[in-house]
Amino acid sequence: MAVPHILPLRAFKDNYIWVIRDHSDAAVVDPGDAAPVLDYLSREKLKLIAILNTHHHNDHVGGNAALLQEFNVPVYGPIREPISTLTHRLRECDEKENEEGNVYLPEFSITLSVLDIPGHTAGHIAYYGANLLFCGDTLFACGCGRLFEGTPQQMVQSLEKLSDLPNETQVYCGHEYTLDNIRFARVVEPGNQTLIKREKTVENLRKLNAPTLPSTIGLEKATNPFLRCNQPEVIQAASRHAGRALTDRVDVFAAIREWKDNF
Ligand code: ZN
Ligand code: FE
Repeated sequence: MAVPHILPLRAFKDNYIWVIRDHSDAAVVDPGDAAPVLDYLSREKLKLIAILNTHHHNDHVGGNAALLQEFNVPVYGPIREPISTLTHRLRECDEKENEEGNVYLPEFSITLSVLDIPGHTAGHIAYYGANLLFCGDTLFACGCGRLFEGTPQQMVQSLEKLSDLPNETQVYCGHEYTLDNIRFARVVEPGNQTLIKREKTVENLRKLNAPTLPSTIGLEKATNPFLRCNQPEVIQAASRHAGRALTDRVDVFAAIREWKDNF
């Protein structure tokens, strides 16, 4: 199976719109703004073949309508969220054959399966397949999304679902937040050597104004404090911040999420 090319388009301050493309066709993930997508498509002489949305926030779906005026394409997105432009409403399904749980992109011969990952929003989904993960605002490089509509318990389960994917899975998230996230992670886990190395790598990329994505599940498991709520150093830091001894991983997660909200 030929793996298509994935690349980021910048939108707004720090959003990424991910393009999945070959020599003639392109699909986009979370087009918050149509302008950079239309520019890119015309510059590269590509035809848009699909829009994928991970959740309903406007910085991820705001460009759908304008793209649909130029291209009559399917719009995939979460069944549980209010996105008026969706043509295919998706949710995670046990049965791999079930149409509602999959997106097949015949132009690229890839199938992406849908994962329910509530927490940032109530119906947030991810797309996973062909070693690619598009996870919107749930898992960030060295961080995770804010809990706007979900509970810590839900977010922990969602992040665990993602961290169970193979280590080599390429992680494409919705924002360039990596350096800020690492600054926080370093305070939570100052002794993490992999994190120290990652900070240097990411600083160099940002000096060149280059994207720090994709990440991998393996690197996230080694450096992302929100995936490391069972690590002694993370538990200690969370307990110190909360002012009481935390033992439950959901409590540890909730404490560091709240800490990061005010960092
Ligand atoms: Zn969002
Ligand atoms: Fe966002």
